[in-house]
Amino acid sequence: MAGPRILLVEDEPSIAEPLARLLGREGFATTIASTARAAVELHDRDAPDLVLLDLNLPDRDGRDVARELRGRSQVPIIMLTARGTETDRVVGLELGADDYVVKPFSSAEVIARIRAVLRRSGAQVVEGVAPSAPIEIDELRIEPAARRAWLSGEELELSRKELDLLVELARHAGDVVTREDLMARVWDENWFGSTKTLDVHVGWLRRKLGDDASAPRWIETVRGVGFRFAAPGEGGAP
Ligand code: CA
Repeated sequence: MAGPRILLVEDEPSIAEPLARLLGREGFATTIASTARAAVELHDRDAPDLVLLDLNLPDRDGRDVARELRGRSQVPIIMLTARGTETDRVVGLELGADDYVVKPFSSAEVIARIRAVLRRSGAQVVEGVAPSAPIEIDELRIEPAARRAWLSGEELELSRKELDLLVELARHAGDVVTREDLMARVWDENWFGSTKTLDVHVGWLRRKLGDDASAPRWIETVRGVGFRFAAPGEGGAP
């Protein structure tokens, strides 16, 4: 069964190639267009389920491409933009884009946006459980699509990485998630460097969850392997 088809319009290979591989692993069939012209051609040829559209293309402005695609089909469009100003966001959405992601974005963030937009557009979403569905583990509630989390009804103030990390761990609650998988999914596709940043972020996340590393309520360190988030009902331990 083929997953939803994504047309990725991005001229920068260092972004397009890892992103296409990531999308492939997440079950999306992805085609890359590196120019505006190729984007329109591949859109007409493949009728994709969603277009990820970079705003800065070599031949035309991505906003013109959005306008042109909008005139041709109802395909959902998510803009990839390095321009973070409110004006650009509004212009993008007025042109008919369904959402936008500001570079640099994490894998988890872009996948969550894609699934949310596909769900709204009524396309079939891969996997039985929509990964951006709210996650509830005892007194913890996470809404990945809204990028918000609450502990005992109180909203947690989490940075982007902390939220991504929490979602990744909580989605696999009860199972160990390896350090390599966390680095790949929360930070970058290919991570060859130190994973010290991971430990630092886990430390910050623990503090915000009121967790104690030596007697964890939420995040258990599995030495040499990774981390394990508490499954529902494990509360009260140790
Ligand atoms: Ca570009």
